[in-house]
Amino acid sequence: MERAALVRCLPCSSVLCRRYLRRSHACFSIPSSSLRPSLPRRRSSRLFPSSSSSPLYFRNRRHFSSLSPRPVLSSSPSPGFLEVKDEIARQLGFEKLSEEFLPECKSKAVLFRHIKTGAQVMSVSNDDDNKVFGIVFRTPPKDSTGIPHILEHSVLCGSRKYPLKEPFVELLKGSLNTFLNAFTYPDRTCYPVASTNTKDFYNLVDVYLDAVFFPRCIEDFQIFQQEGWHFELNDPSEEITYKGVVFNEMKGVYSQPDNILGRAAQQALFPDTTYGVDSGGDPRVIPNLTFEEFKEFHRKYYHPSNSRIWFYGDDDPNERLRVLSEYLDLFDSSVAPDESRVEPQRLFSKPVRIVETYPAGEGGDLKKKHMICLNWLLSEKPLDLETELRLGFLNHLLLGTPASPLRKILLESRLGDAIVGGGVEDELLQPQFSIGMKGVSADDICKVEELVISTLKKLADEGFDTDAIEASMNTIEFSLRENNTGSFPRGLSLMLQSIGKWIYDLNPFEPLKYEKPLQDLKSRIAKEGSKSVFSPLIEKFILSNPHQVTVEMQPDPEKATREEATEKQILQKVKASMTTEDLAELTRATHELRLKQETPDPPEALKTVPSLSLQDIPKEPIRVPTEVGDIDGVKVLQHDLFTNDVLYTEIVFNMSSLKQELLPLVPLFCQSLLEMGTKDLTFVQLNQLIGRKTGGISVYPFTSSVRGKEDPCSHMIVRGKAMAGRIEDLYDLVNSVLQDVQFTDQQRFKQFVSQSKARMENRLRGSGHGIAAVRMDAKLNAAGWMSEKMTGLSYLEFLRTLEERVDQDWADLSSSLEEIRKSVFSKQGCLINVTADGNNLANTGKVVSKFVDMLPTGSPIATTTWNVRLPLTNEAIVVPTQVNYVGKAANIYDTGYQLNGSAYVISKYISNTWLWDRVRVSGGAYGGFCDFDTHSGVFSFLSYRDPNLLKTLDVYDGTGDFLRELQIDDDTLTKAIIGTIGDVDAYQLPDAKGYSSMLRYILGITEEERQRRREEILSTSLKDFKHFMDAMEAIKDKGVVVAVASPEDIEAANKSRPDFFQVKKAL
Ligand SMILES: [Zn+2]
Repeated sequence: MERAALVRCLPCSSVLCRRYLRRSHACFSIPSSSLRPSLPRRRSSRLFPSSSSSPLYFRNRRHFSSLSPRPVLSSSPSPGFLEVKDEIARQLGFEKLSEEFLPECKSKAVLFRHIKTGAQVMSVSNDDDNKVFGIVFRTPPKDSTGIPHILEHSVLCGSRKYPLKEPFVELLKGSLNTFLNAFTYPDRTCYPVASTNTKDFYNLVDVYLDAVFFPRCIEDFQIFQQEGWHFELNDPSEEITYKGVVFNEMKGVYSQPDNILGRAAQQALFPDTTYGVDSGGDPRVIPNLTFEEFKEFHRKYYHPSNSRIWFYGDDDPNERLRVLSEYLDLFDSSVAPDESRVEPQRLFSKPVRIVETYPAGEGGDLKKKHMICLNWLLSEKPLDLETELRLGFLNHLLLGTPASPLRKILLESRLGDAIVGGGVEDELLQPQFSIGMKGVSADDICKVEELVISTLKKLADEGFDTDAIEASMNTIEFSLRENNTGSFPRGLSLMLQSIGKWIYDLNPFEPLKYEKPLQDLKSRIAKEGSKSVFSPLIEKFILSNPHQVTVEMQPDPEKATREEATEKQILQKVKASMTTEDLAELTRATHELRLKQETPDPPEALKTVPSLSLQDIPKEPIRVPTEVGDIDGVKVLQHDLFTNDVLYTEIVFNMSSLKQELLPLVPLFCQSLLEMGTKDLTFVQLNQLIGRKTGGISVYPFTSSVRGKEDPCSHMIVRGKAMAGRIEDLYDLVNSVLQDVQFTDQQRFKQFVSQSKARMENRLRGSGHGIAAVRMDAKLNAAGWMSEKMTGLSYLEFLRTLEERVDQDWADLSSSLEEIRKSVFSKQGCLINVTADGNNLANTGKVVSKFVDMLPTGSPIATTTWNVRLPLTNEAIVVPTQVNYVGKAANIYDTGYQLNGSAYVISKYISNTWLWDRVRVSGGAYGGFCDFDTHSGVFSFLSYRDPNLLKTLDVYDGTGDFLRELQIDDDTLTKAIIGTIGDVDAYQLPDAKGYSSMLRYILGITEEERQRRREEILSTSLKDFKHFMDAMEAIKDKGVVVAVASPEDIEAANKSRPDFFQVKKAL
């Protein structure tokens, strides 16, 4: 059930996606890092696209794929993909504008124009079975009422052909989709879907097309109220409150300092254009939005003439046009494209400085919590592609790795805790560059500014060293060729790249081609030297560019309370202005809306959503070829998969002999391995070497419960990848990292501590549900306890004490790091996993054997018994926020429940119906879901950006009753089963397949068991749902609660249920 976590508990799928989250809101997926100890927990290594981390993680990250190369003239003939004949296209109402074969992605791409409306269609054909469709509208807003964002939510709430509350949710429940979401950008709205099953794919396409062109929300005021905003009044004697899914989502966004900073910078850089307002919606402005404006926006912009449509994959391109013509032919041409054009911002003649505040907690030294960010708008006109490519490289050189000079010098200055600003951003009409720091003392603000400028000057004068250039070049090239998009469909990644130009009426093919511009750039560097390639860029676009905005952010401990109070005042005024009849009417409307939200769709409406039948579902799980061998006493797993000449490896060490008190040092230990340097190499040299010879190395801990065992499994995993010709380099470098790195650099270690602290504080605000989840786990099992020590609130507390210790007890700390190395890296208990093509696998034996020989044979595994837990008390973690994260959990194995595959179906069903309806739709939270860790038995409920606290707990407690009263017809049950299979069979690229297979091996999950679980899933019946009731009742009675919440809400909760929460202050 790996993917249940992807859809609902819900990381917004991947790195790539996250990149777009910096500026876009992906609305139906909610990030959950570390919700499930059972998931492959790929840590946010800079070189591995990760599939589970929070959107914020992406803020400072650029993906190389956004480099936009310049046009290539040559076009080789396409291999035998199906083609659309011109006359067929004509018959269907389309004309072919251009076509190209794209060797970079082995695809034939054809650009069509729908003659009647002018809609443009990019039809990309290749042999990728992970098919992708997307429709994108240009939707520039004029104010910060959040129209584009609210519309993006609302069009998925029922349409002409699919007249039910949320067809989107029905698709989540019952399709095999590999991607289903929607994003709002500052100037466009995207609706992408993906599936590997052709029938399923076209079902998804049809639901999405009907949704965008014929949504019910433009007639149904209640949808606008539910997704946007409305006044809620349950009883005339109570206070009026604001409710609305987007309203609360944005309140969460506006509680996060990094987000406030990013928005302030964007708005100040583009004061005269659409980017000067917030397309997501400012919670203070959202209530100004009227239904009339909302409808008008849809009428104007959700029109074929204003759309760009993308198809990608191995399906028949004729079918694509046929499906589209059914919709597009219903429209005439419109003037929308003229009205939606995005106008450029004129460049300033002198710099601007602004000061903003952000809500801070009262704890800690506020003087040290300032943020400072320098931003430049690089150009008035879109840049030529060659310049964009050079800027992308420059960005990687400046900031791409810990060894990159701008990043390194800023962090080493100790003027702040961590970097803010994402470097070069080029996904809007005009590119920008941003860099700064947070955790800065008020007195040091100017010093940070000066340091940024002087460093850039120095780099412009002196240039970069050759090794750095080579390392960046190899890293970027590797990443382009590997094209590893994690769990994000490749076709979607390409679509988002192409749209980045296409949306501005530029050539949509160009961003998909990198080969020639890359070679040109390489030869230019070789010929002219890197300095003449990069220095003029720094000079022109940054140092002598007057369009600069400096944003200073000051902590304001009263801001959150003040904003709450202002909102209350407004609402009190609203109430005071209402007559008794008005209040009675509002109460009636509130109840009517709730009743509508809580009334299930009639079966005939549900039947309109197309679904597969159980016959369409393979009876057997996806098997990953795995050969288990042994090299000199070390287990070696090999997976023969087509990886396009890349070799992926994991080296897994047992952590069970580690002393408990060393656990919180493990994440910093891992960072030290990669960022401290060896006897012979400085950390910069080591990093450059890794960049030059490999596709990256990362090290991180992994813990999980093991079913039926008391002791948890705990490992340290080293991941690496390289082109097949570099296998030996890769293992040599891993060996250096493990054995030669010196833990002697006190100052660098201190930086790691500050950075980690800043990251954890950010997580607490932005992903409080992850913090709550791991905290509950820590109360329920030893694996959770370990994980909490390394990723949870305990870890943050540890980091806070550690800063001083680095100064006072460095010798001691350094020897603790050495001790971790001694107790973990040993031949005993080591396992090596390799994923590559057969030929390359055959060549690894010798290299691996040499590597194994060099491993220390020391300490045999002295298994410590990890019988530790946090006390089983309800906890409230106080954070300055306007929205809460509420969790409740228990171990249902302890209550007698025995694992059956049906549990996957049932927990997904509970998430998608009961919790979605009550916590999100009527509760107004951005998300609510449950998660079942089948290894530990912990079943947890969680909510995300939730305006409620105790009320949400009541919903969780009502789950048993929900199941008791549940009636479920065959169609619904089939859908639930298919949706679950969709999760279990989640699409994976080869490296992920090899990795998952390794985790199953470690956790003792056999192929027989997978087959049995699948059969249990496929034969789930109503009886299983009823049987699950007892487990839910047990959570209600015995479950433990952890909430990350605002001080006001916690106080109110403890008032109404005395001593319910033990209160813990965190920020
Ligand atoms: Zn949203």
